[in-house]
Amino acid sequence: MNDRDPNCLFCKIVSGQIPSTRVHETDTLLAFKDIHPQAPFHCLVIPKIHRATLNDFAQADEQLIGSMLLTAKRIAADASLPGYRVAMNVGREGGQVVFHVHLHVLGGRPLAGALG
Ligand code: 5GP
Ligand code: ZN
Repeated sequence: MNDRDPNCLFCKIVSGQIPSTRVHETDTLLAFKDIHPQAPFHCLVIPKIHRATLNDFAQADEQLIGSMLLTAKRIAADASLPGYRVAMNVGREGGQVVFHVHLHVLGGRPLAGALG
């Protein structure tokens, strides 16, 4: 599987071809602000390799998935969020619009208990 898809929006954000406000970066992951925030704090955590959806992850990606969640925790702590939500849309039916795996990290206001 390719590590980059030249037509993918988030691969272009990883390469810097499309600008973004980066909040955290490692060799394997990037966290940046969502362009249309749904809450005062709304960041996306993505792997630098291209994977379209969670369904394209395999057992070998276990560590990467764990790192994505720990990055969510870290950027929430850096922003001093007392609570936050981590969400991932999977597939068109699941509300996914950009087909490069990403975690949404939302906070900065009280979030309703149920997902909409
Ligand atoms: P999805 O619905 O695929 O889970 O979420 C995609 C997210 O990517 C949306 O929240 C949308 O606002 C965000 N997004 C789309 N295009 C861009 C962009 O060019 N830059 C940034 N920073 N976020 C984007
Ligand atoms: Zn991509």
